Amino acid sequence: MALKRNKMHSIQEEKESVALLKSLGHIVSSFYEIELNSEEIVDFPISLPNIKIEVSLEENILIQNIKLNKQLLKYKFDYLTWRKKHNFQSLNLEPSFCNMRYQNPNNEIDISIFINEQNRLENNSIYYLILDKIIYTIKHNIKYPSKSIDGYKCIHCPMINQSYILINEIDNQYHLFYLLHEIGHVIVNFLMVETSIIFSIEEEEYWAHYFECTLINTFYKKEAKKYEYFLYSLLEENKAITNYQIELFKYPEKYEKYENKMELYKRNVVEYNLTDEDSINYNYVFEFIDAPFYSASYIMGQENAINHILKDTLIEGVLKFTSIFDK
Ligand SMILES: [Zn+2]
Repeated sequence: MALKRNKMHSIQEEKESVALLKSLGHIVSSFYEIELNSEEIVDFPISLPNIKIEVSLEENILIQNIKLNKQLLKYKFDYLTWRKKHNFQSLNLEPSFCNMRYQNPNNEIDISIFINEQNRLENNSIYYLILDKIIYTIKHNIKYPSKSIDGYKCIHCPMINQSYILINEIDNQYHLFYLLHEIGHVIVNFLMVETSIIFSIEEEEYWAHYFECTLINTFYKKEAKKYEYFLYSLLEENKAITNYQIELFKYPEKYEKYENKMELYKRNVVEYNLTDEDSINYNYVFEFIDAPFYSASYIMGQENAINHILKDTLIEGVLKFTSIFDK
């Protein structure tokens, strides 16, 4: 759950972000290169179960399976009990039976919409500052990293108060919904520093999806229907992967054989009504095994965003956030 942010949280986060950006070839000028003393290490909000599964996609399926079994048996783990113990809200894993199918949106990001909006405002309001941060980030902080980034990612440097959006796309065509999600993170990052809090991954995703939804409601209303399909596709996929992992970690002895894991996985694909186009292949599930239960971090945020389509605007979202978290 959210914690009060202190300077050491920000310094640690900044050091990790600067190092990650550097490893991808992006040099960021930050003053935080100092080494931390161990007594200064602070606790971050609990985000994911501490499970290290090391299975590489490079290895053949037999080796993957053997390694995975060994580790699963060692970690035999009940995710839903873990959530309760750490005061996470309970998850709705019911399939939605929504038959909406994802289609590409029409629009590309045009920063003049943010500039026009900003021109109407007093330049000291928090809403003005957020628009300023969005415009600056799109103009200067979108980076094309090496292949080691999968899709889209937002990296935050809280001490210099900058967010960087990393995109692994060669053709320079931003995908509207993914980019708006990362801009959602830019807004959350800015507000977390402003209000001196630090979130768990699940809370960050909750608010990033919420702000992405307010951006649709404010600037891309015409795309709302496609956005709804998009969210349902992601949500069902995340529920399926989460449900698959819950069962796999809880009863690893039942799924020792590769065929049994595959069968469990296929059962979830059917249960959550994933089609061939939007369902994930089995190898992709191994990537999730790399960071077990990451998929669960998106579920509440995506459900909440679906419930806010064509409702809250960006400014209403900012006011909602600050009324909850302001110092
Ligand atoms: Zn996100």
